[in-house]
Amino acid sequence: MSPKAPGPASRRLWRNARRLFAGGVNSPVRSFRAVGGSPVFFARGRGAYLFDADGRRYLDLVGSWGANLLGNAPPEVLRAVRRAAGEGLSFGAPTERENLLAAALRTSCPELERLRFVSSGTEAVMSAVRLARGVTGRSKVVKFEGGYHGHSDGLLARAGSGPATLSVPDSAGVPGPIARETLVVPYNDPAALADLFERHGEQIAAVLIEPIAANMGLVPPRPGFLRTVTSLAHRHGALVLADEVITGFRLRKGTVHRSLGLAADLVTLGKVIGGGMAVAAYGGRRKFMDLLAPVGDVYQAGTLSGNPLGMAAGLAVLEALTPATYRQLERVGADLAERLEARAEQERVVPFHLTRRGSLLGVFFAQGPVRNFEEARRSDRARYARFFHAALDGGVYLPPSPLETTFLSAAMVSGDLDRAEPALTAALRKARARDP
Ligand SMILES: *Cc1c(COP(=O)(O)O)cnc(C)c1O
Repeated sequence: MSPKAPGPASRRLWRNARRLFAGGVNSPVRSFRAVGGSPVFFARGRGAYLFDADGRRYLDLVGSWGANLLGNAPPEVLRAVRRAAGEGLSFGAPTERENLLAAALRTSCPELERLRFVSSGTEAVMSAVRLARGVTGRSKVVKFEGGYHGHSDGLLARAGSGPATLSVPDSAGVPGPIARETLVVPYNDPAALADLFERHGEQIAAVLIEPIAANMGLVPPRPGFLRTVTSLAHRHGALVLADEVITGFRLRKGTVHRSLGLAADLVTLGKVIGGGMAVAAYGGRRKFMDLLAPVGDVYQAGTLSGNPLGMAAGLAVLEALTPATYRQLERVGADLAERLEARAEQERVVPFHLTRRGSLLGVFFAQGPVRNFEEARRSDRARYARFFHAALDGGVYLPPSPLETTFLSAAMVSGDLDRAEPALTAALRKARARDP
């Protein structure tokens, strides 16, 4: 089988990139290592679609890993960014747009009594962890297997997303003493967490959790799990850090942890709130946040924090988010899930298991249920790779890894899925085949 994508222009760019970047990329999953072949280079995007360097069109089911909730190049966001750009790119001093975006976030997330803007989700979680350690005077943090909280040293242990995709869940270059400060338990396993707190409770500063795990494919919490996380953490004097870098503003206009039973002390946001610009935030209870410098003695800073272009983009995104946006995201999410399930059944694709929350889908070539990292990792990589490449050849861009979530955007309508359905059906057929 000779794949039709990538085309000649992408291939040429890839040859150059490999001479310039480690592994040819600036972020590992982009390399297609997990699915084989070489990556498609994109030139532009519009609405539900991406256009590659060869001018081919793809339905975009990655959405910049969730940042593009409104689709590609939404006109209102572009207008806001252009306007801000005309006024200056960075001042390294306070600007009104920071207040406006912070106020808009707080209207939707009242738990953000105080917040800080940073430039990446990695920075947001890293800073929130430092703060939790400062608050509690304790050093250990708990994370869940397959959870991804950015690439800071301590948080790569048993991580999902890229590290899981590339089978390096415990990065080299992280000193043992730092790695040992991170305790890891399976997601959705209250007994394991209780046992951990029993043994290390007095040393634990915080529990970090994605309220809906979205970096090992999509793995929703089991009923009651997040309540148990909260009560165990708080009973032992640890803070709860809800990492909503993916879920925040994707499933509703605000965060999801509280409605799922998680009472967070600190919250991190990213992806959607920057609308494709380098914006993330962390925040929470005022009495904790006020321990940050310059009032407190936990230090955190950033030359480009609260950058005017990022603030402008975030504001435009938040203004565009209405109840209708979330209805549309739910509609297309349900539509895609139904089509995939029906076709998989019709084509007798076994094993096949879908998870979904709104516009987030987990596509597993595995026997369900998928409740944790171990179960997610049973997903058949070879089948996913065939599924991925056949979809790509048919003009559908899926995440290039079996352990990433599929993201829809509000720019999608059922007509887009009608057009993509033949490619997805062919892709499922390829996934079923024993031999490629
Ligand atoms: C993407 C992600 C991060 C890291 O964000 P970056 O902007 O890539 O540094 C952290 N936490 C979660 C849950 C994420 O999905």
